Amino acid sequence: MKKIGVLALQGAFVEHIALLRRLDVEAFPIRLPQELESLDGLIIPGGESSTIGKLMREYDLMAPLSGLCNEGFPIMGTCAGMILLAKRVSGLSLEPLGAMDLEVRRNAFGRQVDSFETDLEIPDIGEPPFHGVFIRAPFIERVGDGVAVLARLPNGTGVAARQGNMLAMAFHPELTDDLRLHSYFLSIVNGDKNQ
Ligand code: GLN
Repeated sequence: MKKIGVLALQGAFVEHIALLRRLDVEAFPIRLPQELESLDGLIIPGGESSTIGKLMREYDLMAPLSGLCNEGFPIMGTCAGMILLAKRVSGLSLEPLGAMDLEVRRNAFGRQVDSFETDLEIPDIGEPPFHGVFIRAPFIERVGDGVAVLARLPNGTGVAARQGNMLAMAFHPELTDDLRLHSYFLSIVNGDKNQ
């Protein structure tokens, strides 16, 4: 059975673990560098990117995580997780991992609408649309070559992307009952040829 870790420094890691356990994988909370060994994939959850980023440093996780990203290890980041995977972030005072060639804006939707839900067309997972839960979410301002935007808001703003074996989304699939984005990530972990 594949082993998937969920970074458990702060934020919505419990929900990811619960959802992964409904799929056919073993899921573990990860806090220490040595716990990254022997995993097949990792999720960086939503929460506060400044807090998670600070704790990543305190727990000596920056170098091992960057190393994994460079090796093509499967990693999925949701919301704050997307912020931390990005190369450039506006509104974050610490350096993100810089693993994905993405420029994102933190807390991009402003105060009035800083939390909202909307259905998203995501061709890679097919119909029906995916219910996106956005909580003080970032959005994607620019993607580099080799990054595919997987989902957009009706106004064209990118809210999910894939680069190689890395997947990032501005919303929270772990707060829905829809397993499709986690299954999509697991198909990357399994190295399915059609992805
Ligand atoms: N606003 C948070 C941040 O900037 C992200 C919110 C979330 O993960 N739900 O880190």
